[in-house]
Amino acid sequence: MEKRENVVIVGAGPAGLTAAVYLIRAGYGALVLEEGMYGGQVASTPTIENYPGIIQITGVDFSVGLYQQASELGAEVLFQKLTGCSLAGEVKTLTTSEGTLQTRALIIANGARRAKLGCGGEERLAGRGVSYCATCDGALYRGKETAVVGGGNTALEDALFLANTCSTVHLIHRRDAFRASPILQAAVCAKENIRIHYDTVVEEIRGEKAVEELALLDKAGKRERLAVSGVFIAIGTRPDNGLFASSLPLTEDGYFDAGEDCATPVPGVFVAGDSRKKPLRQIVTAAADGAVAATMAANYLNTLGARV
Ligand SMILES: Cc1cc2nc3c(=O)[nH]c(=O)nc-3n(C[C@H](O)[C@H](O)[C@H](O)COP(=O)(O)OP(=O)(O)OC[C@H]3O[C@@H](n4cnc5c(N)ncnc54)[C@H](O)[C@@H]3O)c2cc1C
Repeated sequence: MEKRENVVIVGAGPAGLTAAVYLIRAGYGALVLEEGMYGGQVASTPTIENYPGIIQITGVDFSVGLYQQASELGAEVLFQKLTGCSLAGEVKTLTTSEGTLQTRALIIANGARRAKLGCGGEERLAGRGVSYCATCDGALYRGKETAVVGGGNTALEDALFLANTCSTVHLIHRRDAFRASPILQAAVCAKENIRIHYDTVVEEIRGEKAVEELALLDKAGKRERLAVSGVFIAIGTRPDNGLFASSLPLTEDGYFDAGEDCATPVPGVFVAGDSRKKPLRQIVTAAADGAVAATMAANYLNTLGARV
């Protein structure tokens, strides 16, 4: 098949590399910009057990599979950071850490990062009891005592999710009231095995080889040691969409404000994956976005009259 023009994709995570596969299969080229390691957040995930059709796989193996599939089809991955862009007009100009590029269609799949608590032990025990994803890792703590840190919808959803399988879930929130929706708050309060710690912060996460206990401090200055096997940090994800703030609509919390069609108001620019507004940030939803964004980008170029 004759390869037509490249579509530039920002990010070689599940959304970006899925978009590359779909674009190539639609007859276009895919040029992927990646500032770090291919695989995105997946590369730092110990085990994935919730991707359809794959019973269990390490994050590294999954990332290698994503990369190989896209590159063997012909995607080109440039390990360069996107540092600037001009999106107006049919031809978009992108500045990277190494130079400039032009493209008529752009897919932004730049992901998001889980916010960190910043306390002692968090980094050292990440993947060994410290998790940022209850949907991903919750099943590892069946019958065990765990904690969730946060007070928004995600934290309460995580606590409810874990309460179905864990013996006790401690919900630790630094304020005296939750930000989460009233319906979630009512559900949490009704669960017998969720214990709420208001006005409390985690000072340190302790454990030799894995998480063993949390050092808590409450507003009154009282300290407590809480024995848990896992702590789920749910204080939000942070997109890094500042580069696009003047050209694309963002939600209040900085995500791309685009719907299920992944289209933006700028013709030829599509957004996919965790950096887009959505109710669930997972590999499967990122990959789905990548497929949709690529199909939309191919349709857009088809209507313009594709260049060979
Ligand atoms: C610890 C952890 C465990 C998880 N476990 C699971 C799990 O078990 N199952 C599951 O379904 N989900 C899991 N997730 C969530 C899942 O990893 C994400 O939902 C998914 O990776 C999102 O894919 P994405 O392609 O949208 O973004 P990302 O994976 O974040 O990829 C975005 C990529 O874009 C690159 N990028 C960003 N800005 C630029 C720029 N300016 N220039 C060039 N490149 C750029 C980044 O370096 C990154 O590689 C986990 C997440 C974490 C943090």
